[in-house]
Amino acid sequence: MDEGKQPVALNGDGDEAASAAAHEALVSRLEALLAEGRGCDDPVLLSQLLAALHEARREAKSARLRYRELFNAVPDPVSLIDTDGRIVDLNIAGEKAYGRPREELVGRLVHAINPDLPDDHMAPVLEALARDQTHVVEVYNMRQDGTRFPVEVHSARFVDGAQQFIIAVARDLTRRREAEQNYNALLSAMDKGVLVQDHEGRVLSANAAGMRLLGLDEDRDVTAGLHWQDWLVVDHRGWPIRFGEMPPLRALKTGKFVQSTLLGLYHVQRKQLTWVTATSVPQFRPGEDTPYQVISLFSDVTELKRDSALFLRTQALARIGGWEWDGGRGRLYLTDETLRIIGRSDDPPVNLEDALMHVVPADRGKVEAALESVLRDGGAFDMEIQMRSPDGRSHWARLIGQSEGRAPMTARITGILQDITQRRQIEEALRSQARTDALTGLFNRDGVLTELERRVAEGREGVTVVYIDLDRFKLVNDLLGHAAGDQLLVNAARRLEACVGEQDVLARFGGDEFLVLADTRRDPAAGERLAELITRAFGEGFRYAGEEFTITTSVGLARFPEHGKTVQQLVNNADAAMYAAKHRGRNTWQNFTPELARQQHDRVQVEAQLRRALDNGEFRLVYQPLVDLADGRVRSAEALIRWFNPILGEQPPDHFINHAETTGDIVRIGAWVIQAACRQMAAWIAAGNAPGRIAVNVSYRQFLNEELLQVVGQALAENQLPGERLELEFTERVLIEDAPDTVRTFEGLRQLGVVLTIDDFGEGYSALNYLRRLPIHGLKLSQGFLRGVPGNDSDAAICQAVAGIAQALGLEVVAEGVESSAQREFLLGLGIRTGQGFLFSAALDPDALAAYLRQNGGAPLHG
Ligand code: C2E
Ligand code: CA
Ligand code: CA
Repeated sequence: MDEGKQPVALNGDGDEAASAAAHEALVSRLEALLAEGRGCDDPVLLSQLLAALHEARREAKSARLRYRELFNAVPDPVSLIDTDGRIVDLNIAGEKAYGRPREELVGRLVHAINPDLPDDHMAPVLEALARDQTHVVEVYNMRQDGTRFPVEVHSARFVDGAQQFIIAVARDLTRRREAEQNYNALLSAMDKGVLVQDHEGRVLSANAAGMRLLGLDEDRDVTAGLHWQDWLVVDHRGWPIRFGEMPPLRALKTGKFVQSTLLGLYHVQRKQLTWVTATSVPQFRPGEDTPYQVISLFSDVTELKRDSALFLRTQALARIGGWEWDGGRGRLYLTDETLRIIGRSDDPPVNLEDALMHVVPADRGKVEAALESVLRDGGAFDMEIQMRSPDGRSHWARLIGQSEGRAPMTARITGILQDITQRRQIEEALRSQARTDALTGLFNRDGVLTELERRVAEGREGVTVVYIDLDRFKLVNDLLGHAAGDQLLVNAARRLEACVGEQDVLARFGGDEFLVLADTRRDPAAGERLAELITRAFGEGFRYAGEEFTITTSVGLARFPEHGKTVQQLVNNADAAMYAAKHRGRNTWQNFTPELARQQHDRVQVEAQLRRALDNGEFRLVYQPLVDLADGRVRSAEALIRWFNPILGEQPPDHFINHAETTGDIVRIGAWVIQAACRQMAAWIAAGNAPGRIAVNVSYRQFLNEELLQVVGQALAENQLPGERLELEFTERVLIEDAPDTVRTFEGLRQLGVVLTIDDFGEGYSALNYLRRLPIHGLKLSQGFLRGVPGNDSDAAICQAVAGIAQALGLEVVAEGVESSAQREFLLGLGIRTGQGFLFSAALDPDALAAYLRQNGGAPLHG
């Protein structure tokens, strides 16, 4: 073969373009020969043509082979389809996938493998292909046995000369579908809500739990069902947060993962609050740096949060039951302890109504109102209620409730229930104990004052305070002992109880004092009638140890509101009226009067004047001789104070001494009396005409003051008087005040040699044992007892008893207020040697006393 005419690379793997060009050249030459009308007798050319034909056949065969190999090498089913939808070719993967040989399918419509296709399915395909686009569709293909599998079919155009074909590649989606199904199953089985949102926060999809969280039906379209305006989203403290601050939006904005954040989702209409933790993960497309969507995971932690909140509160309040009422959902949650308290451990209440059945009807309304108010406005309540268990047991409970959120998220109330039965019982016992007098079982002072306070506060008209004092009770107590005194008080209480009406309140107000709050609403005179009844009831004697005593009463009345608008005024005024009754001679009753009111007014004035009286030199002393009852000789003299005030005039000491004691002025006044009396004594001595001793009255208030010893010591020293020429008279009040220094003061006075005497003996308050304990020289029998002597048997008996006591203890007795010879005889008959009274002399000026002394002569002090 000619080297130069040798076709180049027509065979083998030579350049296709070169080979095609060589063919072209041969064909052109042949065509030129044929056009010249010449045949071809050139053997070279003919052989070249032959060779080219061989080559072309070989090449076509090889191309077909290559096509088939390639076709079959594709792992997905590929079919070649003509524009009518008829299968022209199918690869091995197709045969396998459809379970049919190629021959069986070629020439048939694609419906053979794709039975769901509509008749005109080629139209959209051809339309897409005409635009040079690939057409993608998801359909189901069918196997020979009729089973189907999901495929994604990509169709492309293939033009062979004038003919157009479609190459359809079917990708089996079975795996992908399984994965998707698994993924969906996982999502819907998850208890965490999953929410997918686009880059603007629009919800694209949500799983079942997510739908539940959002309160949507699972089969509804999340994008249509969700309205953010129905929701109020709050942070862990309950403060509302804006849409843009929510975790998914933050994740979109920052492109960062937002870790579990606690949120409250409150549905405004449904009044439901759900606590969730949210985690949001932004999603990026490859190569992009702004997220195209965000996936969020929500966990419902409502129960957890409730449990922990309950737990904390419960713990803080010391093992008490917790409860929660979700008004929105109508759900009641009770802890075990709460169930135990209400007695429903085995049978928990199904709803609120059921639980409220355990609150006694009287309290139920209160509880319901409180729940309602907190549901509506938020806030809290705290109340004590009475409850009844299913077994009928009644108990007290403290119920506290508090709205979990701020208004308007007030749907949920959490609280505690505490059994306080024991505390209430103790309190009740203590309260009634605190209000009761142990001896008589009546109300005590506190109890009756509280009751009076209540009535006064209510402005309740028609209550009269009746103040009752037992006359001379102290004497019985002192003479017969406490047991007798107690017995007498109990008997007196019973007698009073018989007098008072059902609406009246009777109380023991103090030692031997009783108080009645008389109901005078129907009958304004009921107080007076009660007073009269009481006075008569005590007309009969009391018996003790076979002896009979007469104990009378002094009663004072004050009516609300005309006699006092406050508890203090009423009691003071009833007391003042009682004193007035006592003053009138006991065994009687007395209304509070304008006169008594005036006296009270005067008192204020008196106290004002008293303050300046000493400095103004308004006091002087007079002296009453104490004489030997047998022969009238003067033994000593008692200094008695007199006060002349330019405004008030002459004031009796009985009256102003009390005031001075109240104000404390008595301490200074008393010191002046001691000094003045000692000075006078010294003057009489210096004049050579003096009583054996000078007696000075000392108030209990002076004993409370440490200076008494010093005042006495100084007065004696300044006037060079031996202690025994001074006598101090004090009442038993000194002994009941029982100041810590009293004993020391007595001891000091005794060391000074001062004589100590108990004044007004028998009217006092305390027991007789002090007579032994203290360095007492004598007793002054109260003139009150002498008044009825010798006619009144009980007065006579008392005088006799006092004389007996004094003699037994070796004490001297002085009788005060001796006005008649009969009294003098009587006293002498009792062995009482010394007396004082108008029978002998009233109190005198110093000069008059000196004259009296000269006339009657002095007696030795003892003997
Ligand atoms: P007291 O210590 O019991 O004094 C006796 C009172 O009885 C004196 O009244 C006296 O005048 C009065 N009296 C004397 N004999 C008779 C009588 O036969 N019949 C009647 N009905 N009364 C008689 P006075 O002076 O009005 O004193 C009254 C009270 O004032 C005294 O009672 C005493 O408790 C108190 N007092 C008087 N001066 C002082 C004083 O300087 N200091 C203190 N702390 N109290 C004084
Ligand atoms: Ca006296
Ligand atoms: Ca007296």
